[in-house]
Amino acid sequence: MAHSHNDCTPHSHTHVMYLASYNCASFRVLSSASATSDEEAAAKAAAVNADTGAPTIFDKIISKEIPANIVYEDEAVLAFRDISPKAPVHVLVIPKSRDGLTELGKAEKRHEEILGRLLYAANIVAEKEGITEGFRVVINSGPSACQSVYHLHLHVLGGRQMKWPPG
Ligand code: AMP
Repeated sequence: MAHSHNDCTPHSHTHVMYLASYNCASFRVLSSASATSDEEAAAKAAAVNADTGAPTIFDKIISKEIPANIVYEDEAVLAFRDISPKAPVHVLVIPKSRDGLTELGKAEKRHEEILGRLLYAANIVAEKEGITEGFRVVINSGPSACQSVYHLHLHVLGGRQMKWPPG
């Protein structure tokens, strides 16, 4: 498989719940304890290909090969709804050109401009989504942070009370 991400693949210990609820989001809610370890395992598996330059699912979204619910777009940035939302508003903001930014931990001086654009786009998304009273921007960088797609992305989360500290 060219790309790797957590796609709610059923595992034996969650099989019954998966059959009981075929919906990906419900599946995660019903089996949150197992899903957490699944996410860690998926993140570790995804990290194996992190530095290969292999295309990810986000390349297909950028090329419009697969559909996404786009919230904002300009020449450098694409923002679309997360397929497995963790809040009423959950939008991913990505650079259209990955340019080595598989993860934030790979950022170099030359990436300063795009990093600023991504953060500013996150605020545009928050305004468009009506969540400026409070929203959270998350970047998972690397397997210990449970990153599952190796194309830099900002999670913009809002529409509910956030807790702190995060898990
Ligand atoms: P991370 O775990 O920080 O790497 O985040 C990757 C995110 O990409 C997860 O929240 C997934 O739900 C999301 N995701 C994966 N595939 C798609 C897709 N086809 N459309 C929208 N979001 C996706």
